[in-house]
Amino acid sequence: PRVRDIMNRQVISITEDEEIRVAAKRLLKDETNHLPVLDGNGTLVGIITTYDVSKAVVTDGKLRQVKDIMTRNVIKTTPDEPVDVAARKLEQNNISALPVVDATNRVVGILSAIDLGKLFGGRR
Ligand code: SAM
Repeated sequence: PRVRDIMNRQVISITEDEEIRVAAKRLLKDETNHLPVLDGNGTLVGIITTYDVSKAVVTDGKLRQVKDIMTRNVIKTTPDEPVDVAARKLEQNNISALPVVDATNRVVGILSAIDLGKLFGGRR
């Protein structure tokens, strides 16, 4: 299978100028652990996770915006990538989700370890 076969197309994202607090609320409300971060043009520029928000809380109180704490070097995948290649990216980088981007770096989905689990769990 390819990433497109199991990715989640309902992507919840955030823009880089939002306050960290907004990211925290969105993570809680939508029960997700990863938010792809977009710039004003809708292009992927980072990723923020519950881990990053927690870290911001216990460190520098001057950090205000998503762009201050997001990870900029995003490890991503594409709809056509074989699932086993994407799974290896998760494992080798100790992360649990990959934004799925098209040729113009727009987010078209998200692939998480949970989606991969469905391949083996016998979704009924
Ligand atoms: N294992 C946990 C997890 O999956 O989130 C915590 C460790 S992981 C190294 C935490 C860091 O990885 C966070 O700073 C987060 O921004 C970053 N991260 C998560 N997904 C990422 C991705 N697809 N590309 C780049 N960094 C990512």
